[in-house]
Amino acid sequence: MFDFLLTKEQKTLRDEAREFVKSIPKKMILDMDADKIQFPKEFLQEAGKRNLMGCRYPEKWGGRGMDWVSTCMVMQEIGVLGYIFACTFGVGAELVCDAIILHGTDAQKEKYVKPLLKGEIFAAECLTEPRGGSDFFGTTTTAQDKGDHFLLNGEKRFIVGGEGADYFLVYARTDPDAEPRKGISCFLVDRTDGVKSQYLYGLMGCRGGGAARMVFSNVKVAKQNLLGRLNQGVDIFNTMMIPERLGTAAMTIGAAAPAVAVATGYTSKRKAFGLPVAAFQGVSFQVAEAVTLLDASRAMIYATARAVDEQIDEKQIRRLVSQSKKFVTESCQKAVHNAMQVMGGIGYTNIYPVERIFRDLRLASIWTGTNEVMSMIIANEWYKEHGHNKKTCAIRDMEEDAAEAHAADEKIFE
Ligand SMILES: Cc1cc2nc3c(=O)[nH]c(=O)nc-3n(C[C@H](O)[C@H](O)[C@H](O)COP(=O)(O)OP(=O)(O)OC[C@H]3O[C@@H](n4cnc5c(N)ncnc54)[C@H](O)[C@@H]3O)c2cc1C
Repeated sequence: MFDFLLTKEQKTLRDEAREFVKSIPKKMILDMDADKIQFPKEFLQEAGKRNLMGCRYPEKWGGRGMDWVSTCMVMQEIGVLGYIFACTFGVGAELVCDAIILHGTDAQKEKYVKPLLKGEIFAAECLTEPRGGSDFFGTTTTAQDKGDHFLLNGEKRFIVGGEGADYFLVYARTDPDAEPRKGISCFLVDRTDGVKSQYLYGLMGCRGGGAARMVFSNVKVAKQNLLGRLNQGVDIFNTMMIPERLGTAAMTIGAAAPAVAVATGYTSKRKAFGLPVAAFQGVSFQVAEAVTLLDASRAMIYATARAVDEQIDEKQIRRLVSQSKKFVTESCQKAVHNAMQVMGGIGYTNIYPVERIFRDLRLASIWTGTNEVMSMIIANEWYKEHGHNKKTCAIRDMEEDAAEAHAADEKIFE
């Protein structure tokens, strides 16, 4: 539907991504959902061989020198396989590597980005702690400076790729006395002595992505594995919020769309009262709503991707990516809800994939920052942009466009 926005080069990449999606055996999808596969290494290896990961990074580091619009398009295509495929694809290549590309040294890019994009090694991102995920700046994992290395101690949980990854992007407190935002640093931690992953969660959906609890006990981290500046992990955290939220939004659309397609086919054939159920507006209007929500979501992510590519004001980008994450994940969940509803009882069974998609997509509004946290950021940025000191509209003072606008005595605020 939005293919008209894509360049020739992007369409070629889209077709390559589709070929890849077609090549994945059904058995892998089912085995992951059944927890028979704990981490889909073969899937990532093949994506790497086809050079599909990290397309927006410079060719020098294994990307294709493309942009955020291209990334959103690829994430949508991969999402079609299932949400967890896009999660594992995204976490290593689009999140962890994004941080290294933007903040890392050339040596770090050589060692950690290049082989990951080729599908030779795997990575996970460790923000959330058992203590909590929303309050990121309350991080209690510590990394003590021991002269020639840092000593890392702490626990993280729900880490996609925790089981399977070769290295981890870990945030830890390096200055316990500094104010919360100023005392956290970011590290690239190899799976060495003291790094333990436990695959222990009975997940509702999104199984097979290696989601694990990570325990770091007296792990020696080499000084050169500090990513970015000491105590300035916040810089990395801030830039990572773009791939976290925009990437999540894009892949959610791809993961939801098959449910709507299946429901459209089913309701065209299924009869009740002698008619295809799609002939009843109670049914077709729910499909109409689902399709509208998917297209509105696509419009939103492509507009946001353009905003990131054009490097507009960073505060506006923060609001736009948060809005995209919230609006798109909730819209897609509603679209899948409608898809299941119009299929009746069969939609609730594993005769069709809609129930798996429904389970998987529930994660979308929880991970990479809950949607309540998104609302917090949106409200915060919006009020800063348009607070009480600013005019109600930049073009003209709209507040004055009322017959009794002069009635100052009625404008009571306290
Ligand atoms: C399957 C899965 C995969 C995940 N993958 C990763 C991963 O790879 N890496 C990683 O680091 N994390 C990962 N997460 C963690 C995820 O990002 C966190 O679960 C999420 O950020 C919420 O943190 P929490 O679970 O600690 O909830 P809490 O922070 O305890 O929040 C509980 C509730 O309180 C609400 N809340 C908290 N603070 C506020 C506030 N100020 N205003 C309004 N409401 C608020 C939250 O929205 C939520 O509804 C994953 C989670 C799951 C389930």
